[in-house]
Amino acid sequence: MSAEGLLVVLSGPSGAGKDTVLKRLMEKEPGIRLSVSATTRSPREGEVDGKDYFFLPRAQFDGLVEQDKMLEHAEYCGNCYGTPSEPIEKWQAEGCDVILEIDVQGGSQIKRKRPDCVSIFVLPPSLEVLESRLRRRVTESEEAICKRLAAAKSEIAQAIHYDYIIVNDDLEPAVDQMAGILRAEKQKSARNKDFIERML
Ligand code: 5GP
Repeated sequence: MSAEGLLVVLSGPSGAGKDTVLKRLMEKEPGIRLSVSATTRSPREGEVDGKDYFFLPRAQFDGLVEQDKMLEHAEYCGNCYGTPSEPIEKWQAEGCDVILEIDVQGGSQIKRKRPDCVSIFVLPPSLEVLESRLRRRVTESEEAICKRLAAAKSEIAQAIHYDYIIVNDDLEPAVDQMAGILRAEKQKSARNKDFIERML
């Protein structure tokens, strides 16, 4: 069967719970690698440079874009975010599934560059639940929360362009759905042409 890992785009509005789903999935499933993005936003309490993000000054971020070292990049609520290209091909070649946790602008750039990617959109059960999750993150100002809520609505409108949606109401079912999607994708005949050809 195909030895190469999947490239997975995971999007969803801030507060949909993508981080929690991913963290739990990675505890349950070995062989998943999470791409660490670069960002110009300031770290939130508890976030670690190099683990949660590479926190970069704007000039350094722009330099990486100019040197073509980002697979995609986008501006979200006034901050820049981007995916460093280097580790991705290496991990896929090693057979690991690589997850890019990125916004919808980045997601559509990846879909154009890498049509073989699997795209998954994580939704909250409702906008009310999303708002209360964002408000529980006391690290953000009222203005930042309002910006994120407005961004959430326009992002959710893009969910229809993704291959799959997951509603993150209860964590465990959401994690099981994501694991199921990855398992099914690996069995696709189009990803296993070599195996069939070798057999013949
Ligand atoms: P946050 O500031 O809440 O960590 O992230 C804000 C948004 O930026 C989220 O939707 C997150 O998925 C997205 N994001 C994080 N990293 C990247 C990236 O490398 N590229 C793009 N396009 N979006 C990203």
